Amino acid sequence: MTAGEGPRNADEMLRAAAGRADELAAPGLSPRPRRKVAVLACMDTRIDLFPMLGLRRGDAHIIRNAGGLATDDAIRSLSISQRLLGTDEIVVVMHEGCGLHGASEDAFAAALAADGVLPTWRLGAFQDVEATLRDSLARLRSSPELPARTHVRGLIFDPEDGSLREVDAPAR
Ligand code: ZN
Repeated sequence: MTAGEGPRNADEMLRAAAGRADELAAPGLSPRPRRKVAVLACMDTRIDLFPMLGLRRGDAHIIRNAGGLATDDAIRSLSISQRLLGTDEIVVVMHEGCGLHGASEDAFAAALAADGVLPTWRLGAFQDVEATLRDSLARLRSSPELPARTHVRGLIFDPEDGSLREVDAPAR
């Protein structure tokens, strides 16, 4: 990188993809998720969803946002996933050590306001990861945008020890 130029990740990414088209191509692979599942997860860098959940390309829709929260836009994507692309199961993944855990809704809003912005969305800060996940599951289970609301499960990943646990696992 030369002085005065910004980060060059996009250039590196193009280089990484160059010449690998054969590997990256998915000719004939359906855009409809093979396993009929959509995963809503936090965008945290430590969550490597495909190996963690045993997923392969083509298996699932992956929707990520800060927190893995059931926001309006997450529900938009899940609605499309179900209504247009045939998924009927949702798995929500939150995690320990999330950046939103204990963050300040007020300080974030104040920083935005200082820049003249009053967004319609909220930061989504929370104090209790399990309670927040339960709230998200409850919202999804009561969202008529989603025709398939029977199979909605919530998992919490701990990036320190690699464990993945379910919140309120259904009785078997
Ligand atoms: Zn997070």
